[in-house]
Amino acid sequence: MDVVPSTRSIKLVSLFGIRIGVHPSWFVVLFLIIWLLSGTYRGVFAGGETVAFAVAVATAFSFFASVILHELGHALVAMRNGVGIAGIDLWLFGGIARMRRESPSAGVDLRVALAGPLVTLAIAVTCGVTAWLVGGGRGLASALPPPRPGVGPVEAVLAYVALINVLLFVLNMIPGFPLDGGRVVRALAWARTGDRTSATRFASRLGRGFGLGFVGIGLAVLIGTSAFVFGLWVLLIGMFLTAAARATEAQSRFTSRLQGLRVGDVMDAEPVAVPAGTSLDRLLDEFFLRYRFAWFPVVDAGGRFLGLVRREKVEEVPEDARSESDVQELISAEEASGVKVDEPLETLLGSEEMRRLGAVVAVDAEGVLRGVVTLNALRQALRSGQDQDAVTPG
Ligand SMILES: [Zn+2]
Repeated sequence: MDVVPSTRSIKLVSLFGIRIGVHPSWFVVLFLIIWLLSGTYRGVFAGGETVAFAVAVATAFSFFASVILHELGHALVAMRNGVGIAGIDLWLFGGIARMRRESPSAGVDLRVALAGPLVTLAIAVTCGVTAWLVGGGRGLASALPPPRPGVGPVEAVLAYVALINVLLFVLNMIPGFPLDGGRVVRALAWARTGDRTSATRFASRLGRGFGLGFVGIGLAVLIGTSAFVFGLWVLLIGMFLTAAARATEAQSRFTSRLQGLRVGDVMDAEPVAVPAGTSLDRLLDEFFLRYRFAWFPVVDAGGRFLGLVRREKVEEVPEDARSESDVQELISAEEASGVKVDEPLETLLGSEEMRRLGAVVAVDAEGVLRGVVTLNALRQALRSGQDQDAVTPG
């Protein structure tokens, strides 16, 4: 499930340059799975409790890997389509791939939304078929907890991981935003109408409906059965889904004010840029001391955006070396990817780059620097949209 936990996560590892972190609540999930499964597997396998515990741990970590692979699916497709990824986090209800900004088009939105569930489906099929082969065609049901006699540890792990991934797939494809299925609905509605905001609102309303449904089912399970953990889990998911969908609805009402505006409409079309080849002492005198900005875009002779240079990087270079050094040595290209001039302005809402740098560089299709959109300009656009709303309600 793709949602944002508020507290910071602990970094585990980096894959493909993507930071993978875990939220403390994830350890609760991990512990619960190991605890419940090692109880279920007790006395089932030859080798006793150690093997039962090892099977439970292997299953829990395979589940963990499945969720990371699901999120990597979203993340890699997003990156291939020019949407940066701030990181992947795992928490109580699964994982989230945090995108640096919104998808630029309905097509990208659809591909990013489908990538995760497709990875999950592939894992389910691979593990299911392998378990079936390992078990000599016994059928998966007999390997699921509690496994029938004769089922080996490997077969049990594979069958369970296959089952978990089928459940993950079904759960994520529920057509309510912010679940992946809801994102698919949003992308399809967006492609049909060309209106991202109303598509988001529609998909969020579905999300709220499903969320309330989950709350009802969770309560029914809690009251009517003894499956306490399951009932509580469904109830919490429902509450969470309802809240996330409601927040998205509120946000889309806000962002509808940017409708029809493109990056080029609000950018400063005459940004101050540093030509490549400028020495550092000139850079300080003629740019940083004069304009007092924290950073400048650097361009080549053809005006193409190369990256940005920060003041503190220049000041780190010893004074007597500055006349000999070139700005190009200090450019950081990863730090700023920029946006295209013709992208919808709402793409910049939630932009991690905008938050970090206070402005985003705008380039044309050839990568030539065309302008800079500041956070203030974006705020102004949101405010003026508000005035429009007051004049023409609805
Ligand atoms: Zn997903």
